[in-house]
Amino acid sequence: MRIHVMAAAVAAVGIAGVSPLMADEGTTARAKKFVAAHEAKFKPLDRRAGIAWWDANISGKDEDFAKKEQAQNAIDAALADHVAFAEVKELKEASKAGKIDDKIADRCVNVLYLAYLEKQVDPELLKKIVAKSNAVEKTFNVFRAQVNGKKMTDGEVREVLKNEKNSAYRQAVWEASKKVGAEVEADLKELVKLRNEAATKLGFKNFHALQLYLNEQDGPELIKLFDDLDELTREPFTAAKREIDEILAGHYGVKADELMPWHYHDPFFQESPAVFKASLDAPYAKADIRKLCSDFYAGIGLPIDDVIPRSDLYEKPGKSPHAFCTDIDREGDVRVLGNIRNNEYWMGTMLHELGHSVYSSKNIPKELPYTIRAEAHILTTEGVAMQFERFSKSRGWIEKMGLKLEDTSAFEEAAKKVQRNQLLIFSRWCQVMLRFEKSMYENPEQDLNKLWWDLVEKYQGLKRPPMRNAPDYGSKIHIVSAPVYYHNYMMGQLFASQVHHALCRDVYGADTDPNAVTYIGDKRVGEWMKSKVFAPGRLYDWRGLTRHATGEDLSPKAFAEDFRAK
Ligand SMILES: [Zn+2]
Repeated sequence: MRIHVMAAAVAAVGIAGVSPLMADEGTTARAKKFVAAHEAKFKPLDRRAGIAWWDANISGKDEDFAKKEQAQNAIDAALADHVAFAEVKELKEASKAGKIDDKIADRCVNVLYLAYLEKQVDPELLKKIVAKSNAVEKTFNVFRAQVNGKKMTDGEVREVLKNEKNSAYRQAVWEASKKVGAEVEADLKELVKLRNEAATKLGFKNFHALQLYLNEQDGPELIKLFDDLDELTREPFTAAKREIDEILAGHYGVKADELMPWHYHDPFFQESPAVFKASLDAPYAKADIRKLCSDFYAGIGLPIDDVIPRSDLYEKPGKSPHAFCTDIDREGDVRVLGNIRNNEYWMGTMLHELGHSVYSSKNIPKELPYTIRAEAHILTTEGVAMQFERFSKSRGWIEKMGLKLEDTSAFEEAAKKVQRNQLLIFSRWCQVMLRFEKSMYENPEQDLNKLWWDLVEKYQGLKRPPMRNAPDYGSKIHIVSAPVYYHNYMMGQLFASQVHHALCRDVYGADTDPNAVTYIGDKRVGEWMKSKVFAPGRLYDWRGLTRHATGEDLSPKAFAEDFRAK
């Protein structure tokens, strides 16, 4: 509401303005007309795609997946429209020159310009890119690690890495799982070339720079942020890894300095190995996770009673095994897909997905136009989801929600350690992903095998297997199917910490320890989140929203405080 009033005031100035503004009135009107026409065209297309996406994930049927693809193609085709792009490009120029007098229309033009720009790739080239990336994804889908003539699924590989004691067998399985890298290497290199070609045709240095631009981000700024994060996490990470290494070395009967990459519990050392004893699952063994979520979100003034009946929260044949939240129509039809089981993972996951659901058109004012009636950025909605997800490991939260803890202090110690280690380990892994992709698109001809291991050694503290010269980066599917995306997860974590700290300061006072705050039953939390984070929708970009919500630019400061990394 507040925003609407402010925008109306801005618009009123434009209308009442004297001659210098007259010239702009036409441009502003043109901008509004373009935005309205776009919305009229895209609302039904988006809704159809949203429902098709939902249906396909629930049923798993080929015909539903075909409908989903059709619906997505219709959107892509509409965004590829040259005439509409020429118009929005002109309006974008006008915006740059300050000729659009309405703040909301101005923002809509900038948001839409990026959406159209992304699809302005030469159709023949786009076809080649899609075909190449499909080919690589198919190779991933059918690839099975093979050890001693036996084929293993991804799940079986992970089982071995979690439980196997024999180092030689671990090594064999790890190496077998990396062979997919060699299988996709040639296609992936070709794909990188094609993506760069598309980007340079649009006037960008390379595909990485284009992707960042489309997401309102910038290379040097990102590297500076990740350099700061590197500084703040290096020592605590090294200490945490030392502790983990000691325990792992004991499991395998080797010395800590003999540990190799195959001694960790997942293929990339992106997760905290499960080496701390107390079970985080125990308090959730008999809990009603759906009800806990409903009670918690209602208690903080962000009820989800309307989301739950539309959602699909338990396992079913054919259904996607993952979890996500989707805003179907930006009119409040918000749904969550989940596969709840009675453990800590699903408690955290449901808090996470329902966190996305409260930061949606449910709580973003209807007065905002459709184009910006959405989260400010992928990193801000991931951040909000992570802010709530963290409670599943909080002793205080669990107890206040009425769950029983057998050994309170053992749980607290283990949960704190796992929380902290996970974030530290994940942050070091994100450093590798960001820096590798940036460098790969900037200089695809370099020795990528070496680049990968240089970064893994530097940021994750793992040992490069002697004499190894293989395209191990190629075994990470995100590099193919979700390029230049990973850094947003990390920035989401920074956003989560920074927003939580600002909320604690504003609602509970500057002396409050943010680690002791659980939000439970406090409606001021919902009010604060609505006005500081949800209300602007996409009116601000992620930088503007961070400042609006917290009073500061996004930084790793609060994140580091959370994990006493200072
Ligand atoms: Zn999420």
